Amino acid sequence: RQGLTLQIQIIPFGDDQKMVLSRDISQIEKLETMRRDFVANVSHELRTPLTVVGGFLETLVDGLDDFEREDVIRFLNLALDQSNRMRRLIEDLLTLSALETGAPAPSEERIEIGALLKGVYDDTELLSGGRHQVTLDVQGGGYLLGSAKELHSAFSNLASNAVRYTPEGGRIELVWTHDAQGAVFSVRDTGIGIDAADIPRLTERFYRVDRGRSRESGGTGLGLAIVKHILTRHQAMLRVKSALGQGSVFSAHLPKARFIPLPAQASRS
Ligand code: ADP
Repeated sequence: RQGLTLQIQIIPFGDDQKMVLSRDISQIEKLETMRRDFVANVSHELRTPLTVVGGFLETLVDGLDDFEREDVIRFLNLALDQSNRMRRLIEDLLTLSALETGAPAPSEERIEIGALLKGVYDDTELLSGGRHQVTLDVQGGGYLLGSAKELHSAFSNLASNAVRYTPEGGRIELVWTHDAQGAVFSVRDTGIGIDAADIPRLTERFYRVDRGRSRESGGTGLGLAIVKHILTRHQAMLRVKSALGQGSVFSAHLPKARFIPLPAQASRS
């Protein structure tokens, strides 16, 4: 079998007798490689902003009197950006680690969909700062069962990616629909799009199509890994459709058991 790594152990017993044990350790090796990559990634992600902050502070310590006040403020603001970046990364790492190390099942709140989506829409508008045309279309309201905090975070994350990967002037549509299978929250953007080859890897920790672009836009590379965990905990699925240069659709498919349509909608369908 391809990828099989056998660990052989020879155990002597009795007079001149030996027992041979073998086990497949390819999974263990794979996990170990993933763990090492993860540690290397985290270290690298923290080292870069720390180097920048250290560099600015050193420059100021060495020659504070040589700089104009505006230059000092500019340096300090750049250092502040980097420290915010480190804080975001650590917050995302803590969220991910809580989700991965068996956080208790999500709470089963009755979440009003209109209010949940209005919150996501407000976050999106704020992040866009008027640079995009953001719309919200709720086709049939009702309630969701799950953790309001987690679902808000997952939906806002998808919407914030749309903002970050859509050039100014683009459109971002937040759409809620439901049918016999369940409910769907989609984020459609007219942004840079994603090559088909990259799509299967998007939810891997630190996987980015374009590292520079992600960093520049304030990304940590952990957003979609967090989204996937939250959705899985709610028995929901993430689907991605995208075309390079045209835009993307990220949708969260929630099972029927988690959706309570309003009585009027229920009797109509
Ligand atoms: P990041 O913090 O880098 O955005 P994510 O896990 O949220 O990390 O996303 C992983 C990668 O997926 C991003 O770096 C980007 O390359 C790609 N991506 C995510 N959402 C979109 C989108 N709406 N349009 C284009 N690319 C996207």
